[in-house]
Amino acid sequence: MSLSESSISYLKKLLGEKSDVLITTHYNPDGDAIGSSLALFHFLLSQGIDAKVLVPNELPSFLEWMPGIDQVIIYMDNTWLGNKIIQEADLIFCVDYNALNRVKLFTDELRSSSATRIIIDHHIQPENEFDLVFSVVGVSSTAELLYQILDEAGFAQSITREMAECFFVGIMTDTGSFSFACNRPETFEIAAKLIKTGMDVERVHRMVYDTYSESRMRLLGHCLGSNMKVLPEYATAYIWLTKDDLEKYDYKQGDTEGVVNYALSIQNVAVAALFTERGDRIRVSLRSKGGFSVNEFARAHFNGGGHRNAAGGDIFMPMPEALAWFESLLPARSMEIMESLANYR
Ligand code: 5GP
Ligand code: MN
Repeated sequence: MSLSESSISYLKKLLGEKSDVLITTHYNPDGDAIGSSLALFHFLLSQGIDAKVLVPNELPSFLEWMPGIDQVIIYMDNTWLGNKIIQEADLIFCVDYNALNRVKLFTDELRSSSATRIIIDHHIQPENEFDLVFSVVGVSSTAELLYQILDEAGFAQSITREMAECFFVGIMTDTGSFSFACNRPETFEIAAKLIKTGMDVERVHRMVYDTYSESRMRLLGHCLGSNMKVLPEYATAYIWLTKDDLEKYDYKQGDTEGVVNYALSIQNVAVAALFTERGDRIRVSLRSKGGFSVNEFARAHFNGGGHRNAAGGDIFMPMPEALAWFESLLPARSMEIMESLANYR
């Protein structure tokens, strides 16, 4: 894939002109959101461009080791400062999200800002709210796309080991350690270039995946042992977590990351869901194998969206009703799900 030359040269022009650059990413930021944001942050600083990273809410604990993470501003905890830097920004990067309301807490502030907005993202159907669009659905991750943008803009030589770690976290987490969304050779070619900066792949993997707290591991055990239901007739499996469960296992931000994938790992399961009770809503995390689009499913029923095989949304019902409602949606989808499973093998 090659990015349009005019977009790349417009980006370079903007970077030359603008002085207050703000990098933003989505609510509940994940490895790709933070990896891409920090890679861009380090890159801009290396070019002498003042940049800040603003995220809506807490960072997952498995990213706490990342280079530059201590400079990330968390809007929820610093609303006044967050609003000030949004107002002062003349260039805003929207990284790893396709709609302004995905930042949830500062959507209006973003919308009313007069800054030039650049989207760098790999979700389908980006909103029409951006002045410069780098939106490619086929790539593994926003991190991969960002690498490609910098490469095509002629900055490959400026990528340091520190930046490489950030890019790598994005690609690694969005592909489940190179197990999905990674059939294109480019993903591995970029990974190889990152490794050539001298970064330690094994360390990065260890820091992200081998740093579970005991309570996080036991929460996973609870999910799989007590709170998972498999519906073979719909090739579907789901897991639920109530507020009590989260409290009992001392839930920390990021502790449920990856849990839904265990349900999807079951043979002959093509759709997996995780329902987590949060405040006034049930947060739904969906995954699928093959052609069945959980993006479309989430848009149709859960006021959400995402990608074909990974999406999310919300249900405003108590947990038992939410689970019953989810089950009631499956019969109408069973043909589609079964077909997806049959073609996937
Ligand atoms: P997760 O289940 O990991 O929270 O989200 C999976 C994917 O779905 C992510 O790529 C995320 O961007 C997308 N996603 C999750 N929740 C929402 C949502 O409420 N709205 C939209 N549009 N996308 C979502
Ligand atoms: Mn992503």
